[in-house]
Amino acid sequence: MLFTLKANELRKLFFDFFRSKEHLIVPSAPMVMKNDPTLMFTNAGMNQFKDIFLGNQLPLNRRVANSQKCLRVSGKHNDLEEVGHDTYHHTMFEMLGNWSFGDYFKKEAIEWAWEFLVKRLGIPEDRLYSTIFEGSPEEEVQRDNEAFNCWKGCFTNPEGKILEGSKKDNFWEMGETGPCGPCSEIHVDVRDESERIKVPGYELVNKGHPQVIEIWNLVFIQYNRLANGKLEQLPARHVDTGMGFERLCMVVQGKKSNYDTDIFQAIISQISAITGKKYGVNEKWDIALRVIADHLRAIAFSIADGQMPSNNKAGYVIRRILRRAVRFGYNNLGTEVPFLHRLVPVLADAMGDTYPELRTSKDHITKVILEEETSFLKTLGKGLKLIEKKIAELRKEGSNVLPGKAAFELYDTFGFPVDLTQLILKENGMMTDITGFENEMENQKSRSREDAAVEAGDWTIVRETSETKFTGYTNTEDDVLISKYRKIKFKGKKSLQVILNKTPFYAESGGQVGDTGFLISGKEKIEVIDTVRENNAVIHVSYGSLTDPLARFHAVVDIEKRQMTANNHTATHLIHFALRSVLGKHVEQKGSLVTPDRLRFDFSHFTKLTKEELKKVEEIANRMVRESSDIKVSEGVSMKEALDMGAMALFGEKYGETVRVVRFGESVELCGGTHVGNTGSIGIIKIISEGGIAAGIRRIEAVTAAKAEEYINEKIESANEVASLLKSTGNIKESVEKLIAENALLKKNIEKSETQAASVIIREIEEKAVLIKGIRFISGKISVGSAETLRNIAFQVRSSSDNTVLVLGAEINEKANILVMVSDILVKDKNLDAAAIIKEIAGEINGGGGGQPFLASAGGKNPSGIQSALKKAEEYIRRKVE
Ligand code: ATP
Ligand code: MG
Repeated sequence: MLFTLKANELRKLFFDFFRSKEHLIVPSAPMVMKNDPTLMFTNAGMNQFKDIFLGNQLPLNRRVANSQKCLRVSGKHNDLEEVGHDTYHHTMFEMLGNWSFGDYFKKEAIEWAWEFLVKRLGIPEDRLYSTIFEGSPEEEVQRDNEAFNCWKGCFTNPEGKILEGSKKDNFWEMGETGPCGPCSEIHVDVRDESERIKVPGYELVNKGHPQVIEIWNLVFIQYNRLANGKLEQLPARHVDTGMGFERLCMVVQGKKSNYDTDIFQAIISQISAITGKKYGVNEKWDIALRVIADHLRAIAFSIADGQMPSNNKAGYVIRRILRRAVRFGYNNLGTEVPFLHRLVPVLADAMGDTYPELRTSKDHITKVILEEETSFLKTLGKGLKLIEKKIAELRKEGSNVLPGKAAFELYDTFGFPVDLTQLILKENGMMTDITGFENEMENQKSRSREDAAVEAGDWTIVRETSETKFTGYTNTEDDVLISKYRKIKFKGKKSLQVILNKTPFYAESGGQVGDTGFLISGKEKIEVIDTVRENNAVIHVSYGSLTDPLARFHAVVDIEKRQMTANNHTATHLIHFALRSVLGKHVEQKGSLVTPDRLRFDFSHFTKLTKEELKKVEEIANRMVRESSDIKVSEGVSMKEALDMGAMALFGEKYGETVRVVRFGESVELCGGTHVGNTGSIGIIKIISEGGIAAGIRRIEAVTAAKAEEYINEKIESANEVASLLKSTGNIKESVEKLIAENALLKKNIEKSETQAASVIIREIEEKAVLIKGIRFISGKISVGSAETLRNIAFQVRSSSDNTVLVLGAEINEKANILVMVSDILVKDKNLDAAAIIKEIAGEINGGGGGQPFLASAGGKNPSGIQSALKKAEEYIRRKVE
C-alpha cells in the first residue's frame, strides 16, 4: 500500500484514474441545498445529478467523476449520534464518485473499482469483500448474477469473498418513488493479523465492526419505482458510485481510524494545544476530540455555503451540530470559554486548496462560530441552573425521577441535550424518564411530519420533453404545450402541478418570487398561483383542474406583478453596488427576497450603518436610476469570462452551469432573474429599514416605483397631520419638543400633588396600623393615578419608620397594582421578603410581579381582588412571624 500518501494526493489519484477512463472531473456541488424541497443537505454524490436520472436535464458528459462534500445529520441518512463514538462515521465527509449516465454499466464499474483499489492503490485483495443483491421474489427482481460474475472475475480466489445482501444493504432507492436499483458494496478488513486468524472477515461484513467497514458502494440504476410501489425498467441504465474519502485514506495510510489520518491530525493537535488534552490518553477525551474535529468541518463548510446557524430548518441542524461540539468540549475537556472558532484557520489551511471557499470566508466563519458558541455557553449555564432547581424540587417531593416532559422542555427550549440531563441527574443519585422523553420527542416529530406531509401522485407524461426552456426574459406570453402534470395534496389542500415544453413563467429562485398568471386553451383557463423550481423542472402550481392536457395552451404572465418585481430586482442590484461603494468590498450578498411589493437584501457587514451611510447608499442607487442605464445581458458565459467582466466570484454553482451576467451601468452581477429594460423605469428607490439579522449580517428593506411613492406620501401626510394638530405653521420638530417639555412638567406637578394628597390618605391608613409581634403592619387600598406615585408613597413611609411592612393596592387604568415595602431591619432580622410576599398574593389580582426583598410590586388584571390580596398579605406575615 501507499502508506505515505497524503490525503490531497490520494484525492488527486482518484481524479487522475477516472480521467484516464474518459471521465470529466467536475467540482463538488454546494453542501447546503438550494432548489430541492425534499433535501436540506447534500447527502450523497448523486444529489446534484438527480435531474439527469429523472430525465429533466441532459448530462454535459456521459462519464463524470468528482469528490462531493456530504452531510449526514438529518432525514434518511443521520449518523450524528455515531460520530465521535465510532471512528468511521462523520457528519460531513467527502464522497468520491464516478457516474455513467446511460453509458457503461456493471462490468466497467466493478472492474474499474477493483483496478483502482487493488492495482493502483495496492490494497491487498485478501482484505477486500464485495456484496451483491440477493434478489427479491415478491418484487420480481432476480439475484444480481451479472454483478456476481463480474466480481468473480476480479478476485484471484473468489471463495467466501462475494456475499449476498438483502434490500436493506443492497438495493438503493432515491426516495419513495423514482430511479432505483441493486447495488454492490466493497468492504475492507483492516484488523491486525492476529485478529483475522481468529474470526474470518466475511463474518463481520455489515455487522458494525469498526475495522471491517464499507468503503465503496456501486449503485446500478435500472428501475423506476412508481407511486403504486411497482418497479418498471428504465430505458437508460446508469451507474452511481460513492466512496468515503476519509475511510479510503485510513485504509491507504495503514491506520485503524479515520481520525488517525492526516485529514484530522492537524485539527486534533490544535484542539489539544488549546485544551491541554492529548489524543489517545483516555476514551472520554478521545470521543470529545473526535466530535470536535468532525463537527468543526461540518459547521465551517455549511457557513461557507451561506447557511447561518438559526432556529429552523437547515440553520437549526447546523446550530445543533455546533452545540454538540461545544458541549463535548465543556463536559469532557473542561472548556468553559469559546474555543471552536480558534480552529478555523487550521481547517482553512488543511482544506483550502481543494475548497477555496474556506479561505475566502475564513473571517466570516470565525466570527459566526464565536458568536454562536458564546451564546450557547450562556444557555448551558442557564440550563444547568434550571436542572439544579428541578433537582431541588424533586427532592422536596421525595421523588428521584425527572419526568420526560421536563427533560424534553430542557432540550427543546434551552437546547439542553438529554444525555447531559441524564448525566447530571445520575450524579445526584436520580434518574431521567427517558421513555417519557422519547415519547415527547416522537410526538413532536410526528406533529412536524404531519405538517409537512405531501402526497404526490405520479407524473402523467403527456409529451416527452427533457428541459423546459424559459422564454420569459423577452416574452410574458407564449404558446405552449403540456409535457406532464400531477396532482398533489399538501396539508389537506389539493393542487395541480404542470410542466410545459417551454414557459414565460419565471420560477422562484435567486430570491425572486415565482410568476403568477394563466394557462388558457380554447376550453379552459387555469390560474397559475405560483411557479416553483424543483431541481431543474419548472412547475406551474394551480388550485384549478385540468380537463384537456393535450390542448394547445396560451401562457400569460401577470405583467403588472412581473414589472413591479423587476423594478425591485434591478433595485437590489443597484443597492448592492451602492453598498459596496459606500462600505467597501467586504460587502457580499448573503440572501435576498424580491417580491412585487418590496425587496429585502442581506449582506455581510459588521456594524450598524450610520444615518449618513444609509443616505449615501440611497443617493447612489437613485443616481443610477436617473442615469437611465439600459440592461446588458450576457448569457451562457463561463465563470472566468464573468469574472473578467467584473462580476464577483461566487462559490457553489453546480457543475456544467454557465452563468448569466446582468449589467446596469457599473453594476455587474451573476443573475438569472428578470429585470427592467432601463433603470429609469424604477422611478425611485426608498430604503425603509436597516438592521442586523445575525453575526456579521445586515438586512436592508426597500420599496420602489409606485410603492415608494405611496410610502413617501404617507410619511408626508402624517407629518402634515401632526403639523395641523399642533397648529404649527413653521418647524414641526420645535413644536413637538415644546409639547414634550410641557408634558413632562405637567406630569411632575401631578405626581407632586398626588403624593401630597396621598400623604393625607397615608396618615389615615397609618392610624389603622396593626402590630404583629411588634412589627408595624400597614395596608390599604388607595386611589392614585400612577405607579410612580405609589412608589413615592412607599419611600416616604420607608424613610419615616424602620419597623414597617407596608402593603398598598391601587386601581390604575382599570388594572390592579400592588406594592410591598419591608423595612431593612425586618428583612435582615425577621427574614421577611417583599418579593416573596408579592408572589404569595399576586394570584388574587390575576397577575404577577417581583422585586427585591425591601420593595416589590405586581400588576394584574383583576382590581376587584385587591382587598383579598391585602388580607392575604396580613395572614402571611402573621404566619411568618408568629
Ligand atoms: P455505513 O453502512 O457504513 O453507514 P452507508 O451504507 O450509509 O455506510 P452509502 O450510503 O452507501 O453508505 O455511502 C457510500 C459511501 O460513503 C460508503 O461506502 C462509505 O464509505 C461512505 N460513508 C457513508 N456514510 C458515511 C459517514 N457518515 N461518514 C463517512 N463516510 C461515510
Ligand atoms: Mg450509513
